[in-house]
Amino acid sequence: MERTLILIKPNAIQRGIMGDIVTRFERKGLRIAGLKMMFLTDEILAEHYAHLVQRPFYPYLKASMQAGPVVACCLEGAEAVETVRQMVGVTNSRKALPGTIRGDFSMSGEQNVVHASDSVENAIIEINRFFKEGELFDYECAVTHFEYGGEETLKYFGK
Ligand code: UDP
Ligand code: MG
Repeated sequence: MERTLILIKPNAIQRGIMGDIVTRFERKGLRIAGLKMMFLTDEILAEHYAHLVQRPFYPYLKASMQAGPVVACCLEGAEAVETVRQMVGVTNSRKALPGTIRGDFSMSGEQNVVHASDSVENAIIEINRFFKEGELFDYECAVTHFEYGGEETLKYFGK
């Protein structure tokens, strides 16, 4: 089953909307495979945002990501990477559609509430960056057969 990584950013935690964000993913039917709070070091941030370290706004981005702890969450489901990116919305929250997390909870292009992996390959790299062995959980959920159809169950769960 496909997995993806989200980070609930410090601005969301400060604003007290961490639960609302987790609830959205739960309600959608994505399974939480791992969840933890952590402070991001300079090293992990520079690695995570390697595509942006040379950009003029990086110092602001860095400060915003180190303003408090983040919550790292590994979500699991059929086509989880694409589904979660759709739910999160585009980077600039002012342009993000209503109904998306950024569209509903933020006015900012920087303080945009949540990070989500942008491809299946990056999701694997990011999950390994934020979670150690033993911090991710495989468990049966009784409602899976009510969340996915028969053909989907066979395709995505192989049973
Ligand atoms: N960011 C910013 N200004 C920009 C572009 C990005 O402050 O012009 C920040 C923003 O917090 C964004 C993060 O850098 O979420 C990572 O940028 P990316 O382009 O990877 O966007 P995302 O994948 O988060 O939508
Ligand atoms: Mg990105």
